[in-house]
This record gives sequence, structure tokens and C-alpha cells, in this order.
Amino acid sequence: MHLSGHIEKMETSLLGDAAQYQLAFDSQIVEMNALVGQHIELTFNQTIQCSNCSRVTPKSYSQGFCFPCARSLARCDLCIMRPETCHFHLGTCREPEWGEAHCFAPHIIYLANSSGLKVGITRKTNMPSRWIDQGAIGAIPILEVSTRLESGRVEVALKEHVSDKTNWRKMLKNETENIDLVEAKNTLLAGIPKLIDELGATRLNDDVVNIDYPVLQYPSKISSLNFDKTPVISGVLKGIKGQYLLLENGVLNIRKFGSYHVTLST
Ligand SMILES: [Zn+2]
Repeated sequence: MHLSGHIEKMETSLLGDAAQYQLAFDSQIVEMNALVGQHIELTFNQTIQCSNCSRVTPKSYSQGFCFPCARSLARCDLCIMRPETCHFHLGTCREPEWGEAHCFAPHIIYLANSSGLKVGITRKTNMPSRWIDQGAIGAIPILEVSTRLESGRVEVALKEHVSDKTNWRKMLKNETENIDLVEAKNTLLAGIPKLIDELGATRLNDDVVNIDYPVLQYPSKISSLNFDKTPVISGVLKGIKGQYLLLENGVLNIRKFGSYHVTLST
């Protein structure tokens, strides 16, 4: 196989419990699970094209945008990382129409086991991809609310008791522990009854999702591969977890290199 194109983060889905990965090179889709165990070579062709306006940019901002787009798109605003700071009601949303479509839509607050217990939020339509992107081995949706801002308020309340971050090195080494997500859910929700009432949040059923990753061997030490420093990255693909390709000689965070023009050879 030999193909080239601009890449974005891998598309992820679940087939039973198994995480499925697709990497698009422009319009050509590669089923990445099938490459695990094979020697692959990825070459950065020294072109980065903004994934919004297609302008060639010397550097990628906000994981795939040119500088002007990173400054003007609502999806690159700080409030996307920190939903409790949504400022739509002040009339200062960078793109009100985009905000209405994406932030005023059902959001889920979930617990996941990535490198330990964490809380997170996501648009309802983004499950279970969000959990696979984070390398979670298990997740449980706990509450549904009607806006991103409300989900952020719940997350802030729960962050006092549980992390909202993944230790990505631990996640990639598969240093995981068994966590009873239903028990964690019950304990955490018992602490915020007033907020649940105030927001009219819907309590969700105990649907635990387990996720298996296509990995032959987890790394014992993590070294990060980077197209900016090493334009040609090659080796045996030992597995895929989160948005990382686990190569025999290091890990490559595909999400970080969105909009890079890359050639894949197998
Ligand atoms: Zn742009």
C-alpha cells in the first residue's frame, strides 16, 4: 500500500467491545486495525493545510488550523476546553450559528477509566468515540443535560472529587486498575443532588461500556515521535490506543498532526 493525503484524527467506533480505527488520507480511508503487526512507514511531506479554509500554513494551530482560523473559529475558543466558561449568553460567541448547533445540543457527563477514574463531558452524538479517543478501557454515561454550559457546571462540581485528566503515559503503558464505575457513579451523584435538580439533568441507566484496543504489545517506556523533528517515521505497528499509534520505536499522537500531508507505505 502506498497513499498520500492530509490526515485528521482517526475516526473511531466500537464493534462489540473492540475499538475500530480508520485513518483518512484526504478521501482515501485506511482500516488501521488491519495494519497492527505490520511494518509501516509514515512520511510527512512538509505541507500543512488548514482543515477549515485549506490555506497552507507553516505551523498547525489548535490541532489542524491556520492561525487566522484558530483565532476566529468557535471550536478553537477556550470555552471548548472549559465548557463552564461558555459566553454565548453575553453575545460574544465567535460563531453563534456554530455554537447553537454544537453547544445547545444534548450533552452527556460521563465517568471513564483511562489512567484511573476521570470525569468528562461530550456531545451525546460523540459517544463512544470520545472514550476511545481518550484510551478509556471502560466508561459510563451518568447524566444528560441540554447544553454544553450545563455539562460544564456538572463537571466542575465533580472535579472536586475526581480527576478530569488522563495521564497519557500511564494510559499508553496500559497501567490500569479495575474500577467499579457504577459504584463511582452512585457515590459522585449522591454529592450533587441540588445541582441535578437545578439543571433538570436526566439520570442515565447503568450502561457500562468496555473497550478493547488492537494492541499486540504495550510499550514499557514511552518515547514520543514527532513529524516536525522526524519527517519519516517507520517501524512495526504494535498497536493503537486513544489517538496514538504504538510503534516499536515510539508512539505517534495522530491528533497532534491533523492537517499534515502524509504518505503511508506498508
Ligand atoms: Zn484556516
